[in-house]
Amino acid sequence: MSNFDPFAAALEAIADPASGKGLIASGRCAPPRINQADRTASVILDVTGLSAEDRAGIERAIRGKLIGLEGLRDVRIAMTAERKSRRLIAVGSGKGGVGKSTVAANVAVALKRLGVNVGLVDADIYGPSQARLMASEGRRPEAEGQKLLPVATDFGVPMLSMAHLVKPGQAIAWRGPMAGNALGQLIDADWGEADVLLVDLPPGTGDIQLSLIQKHKPTGAIIVSTPQDLALIDATRAIDLFNQATVPIIGLVENMAGYVCPHCGEISDPFGAGGAEAASRALGISFLGRIPLEIAIRKASDAGRPPAAGGDAHAQPFLDIAGGLMGWLNGRAAPTF
Ligand code: ADP
Repeated sequence: MSNFDPFAAALEAIADPASGKGLIASGRCAPPRINQADRTASVILDVTGLSAEDRAGIERAIRGKLIGLEGLRDVRIAMTAERKSRRLIAVGSGKGGVGKSTVAANVAVALKRLGVNVGLVDADIYGPSQARLMASEGRRPEAEGQKLLPVATDFGVPMLSMAHLVKPGQAIAWRGPMAGNALGQLIDADWGEADVLLVDLPPGTGDIQLSLIQKHKPTGAIIVSTPQDLALIDATRAIDLFNQATVPIIGLVENMAGYVCPHCGEISDPFGAGGAEAASRALGISFLGRIPLEIAIRKASDAGRPPAAGGDAHAQPFLDIAGGLMGWLNGRAAPTF
């Protein structure tokens, strides 16, 4: 008597895209259960870590191999996935125009370069700019079931922004609860392999920040400020908000710190120097790093070429900040999300 199971053999003949082994050997599924009465098979497929494309491919392959085999009429496939514990990092600032979005985009790109699977959420719902910074304008996220599928970028960082969901130039005039729902859709999207989600918040301390803190429980927050005192006073308010909600502040980033002359390379300090570092000391929070005010940074950002993706010196401050963030994350115990 032979134990040969033609259905199991058919599934084993399909390669798991992650391990290259057959679907059963790789642990994706067990041999199918066959209902003799209606000649249907049931397959429970573990799709953890697979892209939507791979899942669809496997589903097609299973149907293709099984239907018709020994008179089988239909296959029911149930997909399961481990819920990934993903860490959510908020990037905030007290006021607009300090380069928060620029820092969020570039730190995401730098994290990816350092080997972290990271996604980027543009929660600056009233003034989304990440699609331009990451050169993904005009791309539309697809949806699978109730979930959005993030848009791919050229930098290996999947992202979602309100800009992907509305027509270019269309005003977004939502009231608090709608904006909160939109944020939920972006954060609860199908982020696949991403271990870390960077969330670029709107400036200030409004509804979106509260919604993020209350509903999505960030693991930590990065605050971006310019060296000007005013920006720092605003930054202090943003820090207070996270402190009150017991969201740990990972550190302060000083942006536009020291103007680098494009002609001679000389560094001057139009907004004063060291303000953010001194403030972070006074506030007892870490200083994550300083990014110079440089025309090249603005030009590259506007053109959808994040400086952190380049090979030159402009990438370095972002790589340093990303390294600091990784160190902080590695020092945290159990991931929360
Ligand atoms: P925010 O998100 O805080 O409103 P943005 O990231 O949109 O700020 O930056 C505002 C403007 O400043 C953009 O034009 C951006 O290119 C520019 N910018 C940001 N950081 C720098 C920098 N370090 N050097 C030069 N320009 C910068």
